[in-house]
Amino acid sequence: MNSELTAYITLVCTSGALNFYLCLSVFLKRHNYTDIARLFILQTAFITIYCIASAFGLISTSLEEIKFWTIIQYAGMPFSPPLGLLFVMQYLGIKVTKKRCMALLIIPFISLVMVATNDFHQFHYRVFEIDQALGAPYIHLEIGIWYMIHGVFTFTCMFVAFLLVLSHWRETARVYRPQLISLACGQLVPMLTAFIYLIGFTPPGFDPVPMVLWLSSLLFLWSISSSRMFTIMPIAKNSIFNSINDGVIVLDESYRLIEFNQGCMKLFPQLNKSMLGMDFAKVWLELSGDSFPFKLEVAVHNQELKLVAADNSEHTYQVRTSALQHASDSKGILIIFTDITELKRLQIQLEYQAYYDELTQIYNRRAFFQQCNQDFAEAKKISSAFTVILMDIDYFKRVNDTYGHHVGDQVLQHVVKVCQTQLKKAELFARYGGEEFVLALKGYTVSEGEALANQVRSYLETQPLITTEGVLSVTLSLGVAEATKESEETLYQLLNAADKALYSAKRQGRNRVQVYTVIENDEST
Ligand code: GH3
Ligand code: MG
Ligand code: MG
Repeated sequence: MNSELTAYITLVCTSGALNFYLCLSVFLKRHNYTDIARLFILQTAFITIYCIASAFGLISTSLEEIKFWTIIQYAGMPFSPPLGLLFVMQYLGIKVTKKRCMALLIIPFISLVMVATNDFHQFHYRVFEIDQALGAPYIHLEIGIWYMIHGVFTFTCMFVAFLLVLSHWRETARVYRPQLISLACGQLVPMLTAFIYLIGFTPPGFDPVPMVLWLSSLLFLWSISSSRMFTIMPIAKNSIFNSINDGVIVLDESYRLIEFNQGCMKLFPQLNKSMLGMDFAKVWLELSGDSFPFKLEVAVHNQELKLVAADNSEHTYQVRTSALQHASDSKGILIIFTDITELKRLQIQLEYQAYYDELTQIYNRRAFFQQCNQDFAEAKKISSAFTVILMDIDYFKRVNDTYGHHVGDQVLQHVVKVCQTQLKKAELFARYGGEEFVLALKGYTVSEGEALANQVRSYLETQPLITTEGVLSVTLSLGVAEATKESEETLYQLLNAADKALYSAKRQGRNRVQVYTVIENDEST
């Protein structure tokens, strides 16, 4: 055997061995892989048959032997391009139906039959004999009609697959491009070699394609190891995965980190590909300096989590975990982080606006009634004292009319501030209306309420408001009423009593406190 032939055989065997290795390793790990691995296993198995038969063909010494190994080659070679095309289609998210599979495998099957029965019809090879000049295993052949059909079909499959891969180049994240390169070269290498062979640029007498297939196998090995082909979802899904704003983390069934998206990298800048395969508890500790606060159960969960971003701003996330279902068994867990900071802020703001007065920042009328109704009912229930005070700024309209509305607003804020210095936190203080305020005092008798009212009134008297328009002295009139022992009495009635007392204080000259008395009111009505 000459050294040239030895080199050819070595190359073919290398291709066969590498393909066999690829086929076997993906087959053994198929449970961890997505469905696309199945077609890859099939394709590499057929290429292995092709290469091994080709190697045996090269060490054959008789025409019969060469013919036999050629038939075996055809049990592999014609099936590889359509399987490659189906693999690329599935990888890119194009639906691969059983019908499409079967349709694509009809021609390869006929090719196999044609080669096996060629002696009877010469449709595949018109001439197939040992090369007179070079001797076995070199073959002199002339192609038949079916060879051309088979050739066109094979080229078309590879070319379409190649174009499909290229069309996805731009939309594919850089990290997954090794996969595209290997997929493209998986088509390009045999296609170019076969083309060069057909136009007569390779040494005559044998098929050079198996001699170069080791190259595409090496590229597949590279892409499997560098970007975990098969373990991650196909590129079609990948672009969706990365385009969502939510941070998504994928864990396997042993809670190891197996994938995360770009949204997640914004959330955790320290997250990097070297953490893949690490236990999630460890990853989380590195990212947040803490243990993961939620149970990693497979059931869907909604929880909230506060995290400090790189710019020191605090963000609130809704965290959902859900099972990654593969057929009936669970293959892992998906953790989704949705930034709800803005939503939370709006919610708090809306809640605040619903219950607080914008100008004075104390409770508004709605919040007052909500709280006071409870306190009032409780006081009634336990027969405890309960007093309310209504306050109204004296001659407030004049302030507005003389100095303008903005000064009127300052007066309102001033009155609130001054009152607050005289009140305890537990005392319910609210803006009741325009320039009226209300105070609900749990456990206060009317005389205690009156004392507090006087304290507020006299203190305000000593605290004039200094404005750009001058110094304004502000006074209040206050009406005080205590809840009766009657169980039917309502809060509305109590406030009405306080309002009557306030009216009385106004009538008596303002800047005074008036307690509601039934007798006085009976007289006035
Ligand atoms: P009295 O001593 O009898 O209480 O006289 P008054 O002028 O204080 O009473 P009146 O009820 O006639 O006037 C209340 C005024 O308060 C009328 C309204 O324009 C003004 N007002 C109500 N809400 C606001 C506010 O938010 N800002 C300002 N600047 N004025 C307000
Ligand atoms: Mg008023
Ligand atoms: Mg007033």
